[in-house]
Amino acid sequence: MSHHPCGRLASRLRQRKFHLLRRFQIPRDALPGSLSLTHLRCGKPTCHCAQDRGHPVWSLTFMLLGEKQVQHIPKEWVEQVRRRVSAGREFQDAVREVLAANAQLLVLARQQEKKRKNKKKKK
Ligand SMILES: [Zn+2]
Repeated sequence: MSHHPCGRLASRLRQRKFHLLRRFQIPRDALPGSLSLTHLRCGKPTCHCAQDRGHPVWSLTFMLLGEKQVQHIPKEWVEQVRRRVSAGREFQDAVREVLAANAQLLVLARQQEKKRKNKKKKK
């Protein structure tokens, strides 16, 4: 059982929380990390890339089992991987926000409990 603080801030936090909880199930294909584009020259002196900034190379960087991994992402995968990464980020943001709201609600509950106890003492 959790303690339910009252007041306007507490109810706003609870509303926001319920909104997030309704909206977010774990997105089944969500990916961690970030997608980035770099340019590499292949080294062939006759290739057009010798003159410009190089061939576009997409990669996804993420942590796996405590280690940083960089995976090359083929051009045809980029759009799908981008969507999956953004689903993962939205989900993580939502989780963080729910945890922060719960922490704030706990702080409020403690404050209100202290006030109640102080009032009793004064009587
Ligand atoms: Zn080249």
